[in-house]
Amino acid sequence: MRVANGVEMLELEAEAFGGRSTLCPTLIWDNQMAILVDTGMPGGLEQIRSAMEKAGIPFGKLQAVILTHQDLDHIGGIEEVLEASEGSIQVYAHELDKPYIEGTLPLIKTTAARMAPVLNSLPEDERKTALQLCENPPHAKVDRTLTDGQLLPWCGGIRVLFTPGHTPGHISLYLEQSKVLVAADAMIVYGGVLRGPVQQTTVDMETALRSLGKFTELDIESVICYHGGFYNHNVKERLQELAPQGL
Ligand SMILES: [Zn+2]
Repeated sequence: MRVANGVEMLELEAEAFGGRSTLCPTLIWDNQMAILVDTGMPGGLEQIRSAMEKAGIPFGKLQAVILTHQDLDHIGGIEEVLEASEGSIQVYAHELDKPYIEGTLPLIKTTAARMAPVLNSLPEDERKTALQLCENPPHAKVDRTLTDGQLLPWCGGIRVLFTPGHTPGHISLYLEQSKVLVAADAMIVYGGVLRGPVQQTTVDMETALRSLGKFTELDIESVICYHGGFYNHNVKERLQELAPQGL
């Protein structure tokens, strides 16, 4: 879906742990380069390629991948994307999620122990594959770390917003030219409504709620949530409603 000039929301169909869902990475580009924000689940490379082709962006134009955080459904495709690129793509993430993405620490939410109830509910063959994924998740070297407030001088300016809570090193991105907020998992769209962080998947709820305050300071016209997709209805008012008062 074309969200603005140079901004495409991809919609990847993913299947994992007995469930199906649509994941929404963002593709940002200008004449010089293209940037992919998050990479879906393992096995999604062809979907990413064909979504890029449909948007008219050759895969070879990809110069950077920004991983908003360590969760498996965001970093899952990184190894395949890097392999397909022949080494020309730089990987960016926040320092606090870097060790998880690089595999020096186990991913917080999808260790085999934490996933045991889900794994045990799966049929035998699926359980094996899922367990394998939990024990050996994809990882990648993070070439550069990103900090709060940093302005990446690409594609009209990409402002990094440190929005921890969902994970310790979660970031969102504000696209200055198009006024699009790439919220990642700081918020979701559910039932057509923009909502705050999901309790079940949020490591530190209080911190996650406080992170929403950063969004109210910006001139945001539309939002892309990784789960639930695009939202552009009275965005500023809605963000004021969601952000906790007095923090
Ligand atoms: Zn997540």
